[in-house]
Amino acid sequence: MRSIEWAECVMRKQTALVVVGLIVLAGAAVMPAVSLAQEVAPADGTGLISDAPVFPPVVSPSRYQHAIDNGTRSTDGRPGGEYWQQRSDYRIAVEIEPETARLTGSETITYYNESPDDLSTIVVRFYQNVFSEGVARNRSVTLTGGMELDRMALNGTELSVLASPRFENGRVIRPEGPGYRMNGTLAVIRLDEPIPSGGSAELEIDWGFTVSGGGGFRNGHLDNSVFNLAQWYPQLSVYDDVFGWDMSQYLGNGEFYVGYGRFEVDVTVPDGWVVVGTGMLANAEEVLRPEQIEALRAAPALDTVIAVVSAEDVETGSTTLGSAGGKLTWRFVADSVRDFAFATSDRYVWHVTGAESGGPRGRVLIQNVFTPDNEHWAEATLYARHAIEFYSGFILPYPYPQATAAMGPPQVNGMEYPMITFITHRASGRGLNGTVTHELSHFWMPMIVGTREAAYAWMDEGFTTFNTGLAMDDWYETSNSRLGGMNGYLQAARFEAEVPIMGHTDFAENPFGRSVAAYSKPGTLLHSLRHMLGTETFDAFYQDYARTWAFKHPMPWDFFAMAEQAAGTDLDWFWQSWFYETVVLDQSIASVQPTATGVDVTVENLRGGVMPVEIRVSTKDGATETVTWPASVWAGTRSVTRTIPFDGTVDEVEIDPDQWYPDIDRANNSWKRPTS
Ligand SMILES: [Zn+2]
Repeated sequence: MRSIEWAECVMRKQTALVVVGLIVLAGAAVMPAVSLAQEVAPADGTGLISDAPVFPPVVSPSRYQHAIDNGTRSTDGRPGGEYWQQRSDYRIAVEIEPETARLTGSETITYYNESPDDLSTIVVRFYQNVFSEGVARNRSVTLTGGMELDRMALNGTELSVLASPRFENGRVIRPEGPGYRMNGTLAVIRLDEPIPSGGSAELEIDWGFTVSGGGGFRNGHLDNSVFNLAQWYPQLSVYDDVFGWDMSQYLGNGEFYVGYGRFEVDVTVPDGWVVVGTGMLANAEEVLRPEQIEALRAAPALDTVIAVVSAEDVETGSTTLGSAGGKLTWRFVADSVRDFAFATSDRYVWHVTGAESGGPRGRVLIQNVFTPDNEHWAEATLYARHAIEFYSGFILPYPYPQATAAMGPPQVNGMEYPMITFITHRASGRGLNGTVTHELSHFWMPMIVGTREAAYAWMDEGFTTFNTGLAMDDWYETSNSRLGGMNGYLQAARFEAEVPIMGHTDFAENPFGRSVAAYSKPGTLLHSLRHMLGTETFDAFYQDYARTWAFKHPMPWDFFAMAEQAAGTDLDWFWQSWFYETVVLDQSIASVQPTATGVDVTVENLRGGVMPVEIRVSTKDGATETVTWPASVWAGTRSVTRTIPFDGTVDEVEIDPDQWYPDIDRANNSWKRPTS
């Protein structure tokens, strides 16, 4: 994407030189369009008709344009020289009481204001309030009462609830700070002294809540014996260079937008409860026996799977050290992460092995925890190892020291956090492999490449669907895992249930359309784009994108621009039609006429969706020739005729035989010589 003035677009329309597929590099004026449009005009002179598919250029929001003007972003899609982002470091102590499913915590957040702005408000997320009565949400839940806030202090000053703003004599009167207002899942804190640019502040919070059972989502417990804890602590919202404070509520469908920082977390649980979480266990000698510590130490170098806690250990109750007080505190440390999640159980079997990251980390620790009655889950260790090694090669070497798959209750479904994923105990076999492979892909996107998931779910789930297809193909030695996703998308298109990919996941009109817009459609389109650009070009670009935006916050227009730089061509037709709109692709063979030198093929665009045309012609004895017409052939026309040079008698013609493009009706994609 790049911004094109509307006037320029109008001028093109007037001259019937539509933008579809035209090569317009950044900064170039209209001139190149003229020669190209002439070049791609159909040979028979028909064509440039007024109802042709016209996709206006992508126009990024004015706030994004300001970021480019301010030098924090750049027109080539890379962070600008002035790029900045905030940082929050957390020290948290939390205790779980399994019988009551009660969690109590206290934390100190050190917030570093790296922005050029002095901040007189800060925004804190209380995710658990989505389970409170009267709070807006788009999922049905069992109420837990949400978060109980016991204390909040800023730089040592206690904060109390501020009165609501009032309207007086035509003016809004806001109460003086410091203090906070709680609104759903957000607390907005007003400061009496702003945090200056380059300064920092310390926020202390004490809180508690009851962990949801079966009526929750993303976290919860199984029979008070397996706990998966996510979205569990008060968390600084993101203040970024494009949109300022992210004030969007946690409604349920959207997951998160989180900054980066360091976490030091103490988790206190009863003796015998194993804890795994984001980061590395920092006090193993206080919670585990020497032989268990040795297994953890040895695992990264191993290709075999060994147990830190075996099923037998669970049966005999020898899972951890014991303590005089009956409680143990497990300390975790994680650097450069966006979030912290953990899982704990008194029945966890704990398997470990190693994986090669191929980067500075070298071999990393792979962990898998599951209960003995779910023995099928043992396979997840190898799935996790494969995922880490595959993505390390395909996207970016895994930068973290460990990766954990944790079995959990059904309501976690499959959910990702830095270095740890929660997956329902019901997943098994290929389904378990698919879920582990999907969730571990999220360790890259959005955990390493820190997108704004709640607003642009496709930059998280779409990329992950794409990555997962390739990883599953690698495991099963197939080449068509992507087709399942394509068929899912096409079903939504057939039902007219689609919503645009660039819509907000929390406000989609229907759940099927929302899911397709986040997962299968962008996943499919990334495969199409990879095919269009060529595997080598695309993969180099994809790695460049991940490396460039690792531990940063890319926006959609950054991705669009980087893709166009890699492609060497304007792709507005692709983003606009497929990401902003819900056009449908139906290429159809209208006629096939043998000529002296080959065959004249006429292809019609029946539904307005634009993609290149890939045509394979073949003879009875199996000789084939595949030609590709660029997407630009559709500039100003719905019907294109071209001669495909060919020696011999063409017996069959087929559009897109390998199904790289999401054509809604393949019945009209092929032609066979009539038998006479
Ligand atoms: Zn996902």
